Amino acid sequence: AHFVQDESEDSSIKVVVRVRPLNDGEITRHDSMAIELPGNNNVVIDQPGKKKSFTFNAVFELSASQQDVFDNCGIKQLIEMSIDGYASTAFAYGQTGSGKTYTITGPFNLNENPNPELYGMIQRSFEYLFMNLQKNTDKAGITYTLSASYLEIYNEQVKDLLNPSQRDNLLVRWSKTKGFYVENLFLVECETIDDMLAVLEEGLSYRQTGSNNINEHSSRSHSMLTIFIDSEVPDPDDDTLYITKQGKLSFVDLAGSEKIKELGNTGDLLSETTNINKSLLTLGNCISSLSDPKKKNGYIPYRDSKLTKLLADSLGGNGVTLMIACVSPSTYSVSESMNTIRYANRAK
Ligand code: ADP
Ligand code: MG
Repeated sequence: AHFVQDESEDSSIKVVVRVRPLNDGEITRHDSMAIELPGNNNVVIDQPGKKKSFTFNAVFELSASQQDVFDNCGIKQLIEMSIDGYASTAFAYGQTGSGKTYTITGPFNLNENPNPELYGMIQRSFEYLFMNLQKNTDKAGITYTLSASYLEIYNEQVKDLLNPSQRDNLLVRWSKTKGFYVENLFLVECETIDDMLAVLEEGLSYRQTGSNNINEHSSRSHSMLTIFIDSEVPDPDDDTLYITKQGKLSFVDLAGSEKIKELGNTGDLLSETTNINKSLLTLGNCISSLSDPKKKNGYIPYRDSKLTKLLADSLGGNGVTLMIACVSPSTYSVSESMNTIRYANRAK
């Protein structure tokens, strides 16, 4: 097991749930709560006539702050492992409006100064990452080279958020040394935390201006920010030698998990819907196979979607994955919340 907190479970996938507060619309409508959080990492979904209880690695209630989530979701262990040469991924799953973007990046407005208290997992991870790198450099003379990429998968097409003028769909390829990778993806070398924040901001700005229907676009696309961490560790027995390691840390803000019912059955929109669901469905299939001891060493269908190809080394092999399932507490969303919790429950 890669996670120290759960020695009983032999799984490299950790699953946590975050329940956001009721939003203004839900409050105005006087929605009641369909989710109970009795403690002990349990989530109880209250559907008419039936209550169902689930247990996760951590559960964050409505009042949980961004710092609470960062401190207690397990991401620190992922960061430490990625420094140590492993591939790790944190992704947010849930219906549109459930708090995925809020959790991963925090609220972002092009024309406003960010409020560090609302910083999401990414900015807090940058800070934790740099703190640890500095410590290792001071203590053990390890040197690091960092770079970052930021991409979007929309309708099974990969687009570079750091080089949006590149209009073509980038290709996902496979090599023996790198595994799956995106060909011609822009990599920005980062020496400081500000360099990384600039990468994040650039991609977010593009997502806020780049399409004519921003909300629709963000609810149908997956975005993925990756930090590549190359290190040179001095060999203790021979000061002319060092060991090189390549780790990476990815943050994925997934497309909305709801079924997009209103789209009808023709043309592009259908293929778009099918493709979104294909990535999410494939991700679910990969994860549930990996968490089944009988299947985990068998065939895992990574190749069935772009998303799962790019997450393959984190999901399988020696990687680690953190799934953050986001839900609204409102009775209006109860069936979508149930779908999310079921999907999350399959992953454990
Ligand atoms: P998603 O990315 O899943 O579509 P968002 O992260 O955009 O959802 O959240 C939808 C709305 O709810 C946004 O206005 C966001 O600021 C707000 N929100 C989400 N989670 C929280 C939270 N934990 N606390 C306060 N507001 C939240
Ligand atoms: Mg979003």
